[in-house]
Amino acid sequence: MGDDLMEGNRENIPEKGAAIQQDGLTYAIIPYIPGGIVEPETLRKIADIADKYQIKVIKMTSEHRIGLYGINEQDINAIWDELGMEAGGFIGKCVRAAKFCLGNTSCKKGYQNSVNLGLRIDETFHKRETKNKVKISVSGCPNSCAESAVRDIGLIGTPKGWRMLVGGTCGLQVKKGRLLAKNLSEDQVIEYMDKVLDYYNQQNTEKRLGVFIDKIGFEKFSSDVLNK
Ligand code: SF4
Repeated sequence: MGDDLMEGNRENIPEKGAAIQQDGLTYAIIPYIPGGIVEPETLRKIADIADKYQIKVIKMTSEHRIGLYGINEQDINAIWDELGMEAGGFIGKCVRAAKFCLGNTSCKKGYQNSVNLGLRIDETFHKRETKNKVKISVSGCPNSCAESAVRDIGLIGTPKGWRMLVGGTCGLQVKKGRLLAKNLSEDQVIEYMDKVLDYYNQQNTEKRLGVFIDKIGFEKFSSDVLNK
């Protein structure tokens, strides 16, 4: 086997938030940008770093973040140092950064403030260890632009408060989340989310939340969580 092939067999480096790419040689990183709401200075910094390290591709991700692709391994540490940001992708089995729309802070259809709630969810739960990755999204109205029905935990704003769906996922087997509670205040969302994550962590499973719920039955799951 030649050196090139050996070189092309690298792995992800989770402790650096770096994922190996299709070429087997270069990496992608995704800095943590809460809600994808970004200041001009951050965009300039990312652009300057991309020029300096000849980063081949910058892409907005489906989770409203900015991915940097085609990074050489020897540049990863320096790039993180210069970014001065923490990793927001490729961070293992934990609560991922929440995805949220602008809700009633900007959108005329918004019933609820998805920015406040999304930031609060991140402050409270981001990177909490879980049995498998947990994706959360927050939409300010039933149009559900943040795709809340296909997230492990999804919030949807209504005139009366928040609806909480659990166990959704997209991918080859699309699964719609099921309604755990409705008319929740922001405080109640945090409280219920804590109960869901605690309960999930206490179980003997490595499956995604929706698969686990299917296994034990939604009625048991909701009764156990709501009566905690
Ligand atoms: S989910 Fe509703 S509030 Fe959020 S961006 Fe879409 S239409 Fe606006």
